Formats: sequence, structure tokens, C-alpha cells
Amino acid sequence: MRIAVFSTKSYDRTFLEAAAQGSGHELRFFEARQTRDTSGLARGFPAVCIFVNDEADEATLEALAEGGTRLVACRCAGVNQVDLRAAKRLGLTVARVPAYSPHAVAEYAVGLILALNRHIHRAFNRVREGNFALDGLLGFDLHGKTAGVVGTGKIGAIVAKILDGFGCRVLAFDKYVNPGCTALGVSYVGLDELLAASDVVTLHCPLTPETDRLINADALATMKPGAMLVNTSRGEVIDTAAVIDALKSGRLGYLGLDVYEEEENFFFEDFSDRVIQDDVLARLLTFPNVLITGHQAFFTREALGNIAETMVASFTAFEQGRELPNKVEPEPAAPVRGES
Ligand code: NAD
Repeated sequence: MRIAVFSTKSYDRTFLEAAAQGSGHELRFFEARQTRDTSGLARGFPAVCIFVNDEADEATLEALAEGGTRLVACRCAGVNQVDLRAAKRLGLTVARVPAYSPHAVAEYAVGLILALNRHIHRAFNRVREGNFALDGLLGFDLHGKTAGVVGTGKIGAIVAKILDGFGCRVLAFDKYVNPGCTALGVSYVGLDELLAASDVVTLHCPLTPETDRLINADALATMKPGAMLVNTSRGEVIDTAAVIDALKSGRLGYLGLDVYEEEENFFFEDFSDRVIQDDVLARLLTFPNVLITGHQAFFTREALGNIAETMVASFTAFEQGRELPNKVEPEPAAPVRGES
């Protein structure tokens, strides 16, 4: 099968080509993001392979379907970028990679917590300048603190286990109780209670209409003064403007972001020679207690290998007319467990 791969970076090419060896599939790599304007590149390709910041709204999907595409394969877990109802209406099959390495994201979230708490990002820069002073680098022990995990699916459950290993009291908020977490001693509480009690809050729920701006001004006001917020889920789960206000007032003590609501304009590209036009992102970058990375929590060898193998298996199953195990359906419970 011929597959148009959008938003290609060298690492995508390396892993997808290795996984596709001997499969007979013809992969055509495009650096461009998939948008309504670039969808013409996929004309005549039965399948497209897209990533988190590619567009798959109704207009783009209509253009793809009109060009003969029948499979939209997302090389990611979250498919909030795809209009699933429009895809179904147009007869497009949507596939994703539900669990390529939840460890990659969980370990990274904990990495952000440790880096922020102990100011490792600032220490790195200081020491390179020959400044070995410790003033301003005072941290706190995670041991004995309360950590709140929002969303205890595949990733959140691993985060809970790691934080339990650090000696944290772990609280959780989810629509469903994960028995693995309760067995660990994690206590499920309401969101307000979690926010009020936690020294560290880490977000691992999918982006759905329910979680859109879940961490807004009201939620931030409920948080323990000086607490840490870490978001490796999707940018829109927090209200960034409200978070900036909370940082300015000191209400929020630390912020770690691997995702940002307007990230598609910046992430995965080099802007080091350009002026950042997004004033919200630019403001966030000025805080000493904010650590931002460009959506790299998934970025491990193991994860990229699993993603590529799952994608190629989906191409083959689709070509052979077999049911896709990783097919995504729009409703009714699509955005809940297992659909992020
Ligand atoms: P998952 O489906 O296994 O778990 C998500 C959990 O969130 C489920 O337990 C679900 O019940 C819960 N949830 C759903 N709606 C909720 C709500 N309204 N309130 C509270 N909890 C709710 O998903 P996962 O594999 O653990 O991934 C979690 C998120 O991480 C996904 O949204 C994905 O977009 C994001 N992610 C980010 C990266 C990255 O590189 N930064 C990589 C992979 C996944």
C-alpha cells in the first residue's frame, strides 16, 4: 500500500523505514504538516500517517477522502486532532497507537517534577557559566509529600507507582478507579480535594470536552499555595492565561509543561533565529520556576520503535481487509478510557 507520511522528521523516517522493511508498503515522506492546504499531497494515497499537530478537521478529511484516501493512521495515542464523526461519515478508518510506551511519558513527567523541584535546569546553566553558588536552588524532598495524579490510565498509573516509590502519598482523580492504583494504596478523591491537598499535581487525562481547561482559574485557586503543576497530556487541559496569573501571584509555585495549547505553531521546529510571536508562550518562558519542553515525553527509542511497528501492522491489516485492533470509533464513550 502507498502511504503518505506527514510531518516527517529524520527519526520518523528511520523508525518507519526499518519497521516497513519487507512489508511491501511504499512510504512517501513529506516534511509538511497535514492541513487542508497540504492534503493534496496525499491525492491517490490510500493511507496517510499523521502526528499530533497535523490537522484532520472536517475540511481536511473531506479533501483526503475526495483524493482517494481511506485510512488515517495516527502515529500517536491521543487523536483529539481528528474529527472522528466526520471521518466516519466519509468512510475513513482512523487508527492510532494506544500504548507505545506509557513508561516513556510517565518517566518524563517524573523527570519534569524532579528537575523543577531541585532546579536542575537552572543549575545546569549556572554551572556552565562557572557559577557554583547554591542560592535560589533550594528544593524540597518528594518523600512524605502529597502527589495528585489526574487520570490514572496507562500513563497515570505508572506515574502513581513511581511517586509511591519516592514515598509520596498519592491521590488520584479519574472517572474510573484503576484497581492497580488502589492496590498500591492510591486514594481516589474528588478533583477539588486532590487540588487542595497536593504538593505536586500531574495531568494524565486525555483532552475531551470535559477536560478542556480542566485546570482553570477556579481550579488554580483551589490548589495548595506554592504547589507544582505538571502537564504532559494536552495543552488545552490547562487554561494557560490563568496559569500565568497564578504564577505571577505566586499561587502556583512551579510549572512543568511538555504540551502547550498553541504548540502546533512552534513545537518540533527550530525557532532559535526567529522572534516568537506568541506572547503567552514568550511570557511563560520568562519565569524561573517554569520548565517547558517541546512535546518530547514520548520520545524514546522504545516508543518510536513500537509506534512504527504498530503503524506498519495497521497498514498491512487495512490492506488485507482485516479488522484493525487499534481502530478509533467516535462514540459514545470514545474519549474516555483507552481513547487518548
Ligand atoms: P489512557 O486512556 O490509558 O488514560 C487516560 C485516563 O484518563 C483514563 O483512566 C480515563 O478514565 C481518564 N479520564 C478521562 N476523562 C477524564 C476526566 N474527565 N477526568 C479525569 N480523568 C479522566 O491514556 P494514556 O495512554 O495514559 O494517556 C494519557 C494522556 O497522555 C493522553 O491524553 C495523551 O494525549 C497524552 N500523551 C502525551 C504524550 C506526550 O508525549 N506528551 C504521549 C502520549 C500520550
